[in-house]
Amino acid sequence: MLSYSFQPTVDFAQSLDQQDKLSHFRHEFYLKPNSIYMDGNSLGLLSKRAEKTLLESLADWKELGIDGWTQGNHPWYFMSEKLGEMSAPIVGASPEEVIVTGSTTVNLHQLVASFYKPEGTRTKILADELTFPSDIYALQSQLRIHGYDPETHLIRVKSRDGRFLEEDDIIAAMTDDIALIVLPTVLYRSGQILDMKRLTEEAHKRGILIGFDGCHSVGAIPHSFSEWGVDFAYWCNYKHLNGGPGCVGGLYVNRKHFGTHPGLAGWFGSRKDKQFDMEHTLTPAENAGAFQIGTPHVLSLAPLIGSLEIFAEAGIENIREKSLLINQYLMDLIEHELTDMGFIIGNPRDDVRRGGHISLEHKEAARICKSLKENGIVPDFRAPNIIRLAPVALYTSYEEVWKVVQTLKAIMTEKQYEKFENEREVVA
Ligand SMILES: *Cc1c(COP(=O)(O)O)cnc(C)c1O
Repeated sequence: MLSYSFQPTVDFAQSLDQQDKLSHFRHEFYLKPNSIYMDGNSLGLLSKRAEKTLLESLADWKELGIDGWTQGNHPWYFMSEKLGEMSAPIVGASPEEVIVTGSTTVNLHQLVASFYKPEGTRTKILADELTFPSDIYALQSQLRIHGYDPETHLIRVKSRDGRFLEEDDIIAAMTDDIALIVLPTVLYRSGQILDMKRLTEEAHKRGILIGFDGCHSVGAIPHSFSEWGVDFAYWCNYKHLNGGPGCVGGLYVNRKHFGTHPGLAGWFGSRKDKQFDMEHTLTPAENAGAFQIGTPHVLSLAPLIGSLEIFAEAGIENIREKSLLINQYLMDLIEHELTDMGFIIGNPRDDVRRGGHISLEHKEAARICKSLKENGIVPDFRAPNIIRLAPVALYTSYEEVWKVVQTLKAIMTEKQYEKFENEREVVA
């Protein structure tokens, strides 16, 4: 860890950049001149290596046609497994426990269809009121498929302050009518990390299965899913993992569940040597591969190969170390430069509880975001009052963070935001 004693000067930002051992990765990404990208937690940027592996797969199609499935640069038939293997270290799992398939929401459907087994009076699903809406929609529809009313059977742990969840409150809600728990690893608004190890232990003490949505943590923080005994997890690869818009998702199933029949079966869940026997009885793969459904979206898998090579080289521990420091630096600058302007830092301060982005609250947040965009800075907005800013370890510099805060200061003191409406855009 490099020495850090905050100073507000641009010289200090530049000295942090000089000491940054990940700084060379920045040149691997397509960054626009005169623009500062602070939205890598929503859609990560394109790297040259991701572009390269995508173009190689396109070339395989051009050259090989159908033979691209087994030949060429990255044989398509094994790509989901190969990417599972490459993803395993960043989620703390063994290679057979991870597969790259489907999408976040589809994978949640698959995992609930496979692991939600209501029995007797144990019929409810436990989630939380701050989670991402798509997860709630999926859980509600899975309950309906089983003939239960989501109003009574989907329990949502309440937040005490609208920002955070208390692990104690979640544990108190693990009652004996709960069959399954699905929670985020990191809350998408406040950036709070839940204590996955503790929650998993407590769930298992009560005989409840637990799974996590890793969209906002995978690629930003290390995980130990296997060691913690997490039953399953799923995540997207287009946020911190830079796999491109609509990139195929990730799915982890603990090895103790290998052999569980997939709830939503399809021929790509087959043992790979059996798949082309074309039998009407499925022989599922004996690993996480069993939870695949149909033919993978190869061109949305291919960029992830190049991107995960970068993660392997950089190392997730180093990424976390820089992420913590650059986010700390952003908070220190905000507190130093933006006092008495109505901003509240709405993410946890403790290193163990904060994820990879800063959640800056302001009642004029929607139009401050528009003003930032006009100034060449890309943030994102979460209604009603959150500006999310994500300095990303692999491609954001400390000097950029310094500039972002200087720009925010100018927007506020010059009231530049007043020329915009305080409403969100169609895509925020
Ligand atoms: C981004 C995100 C999703 C998106 O799901 P998709 O199926 O990829 O559209 C779901 N959950 C969380 C927590 C997210 O951050």
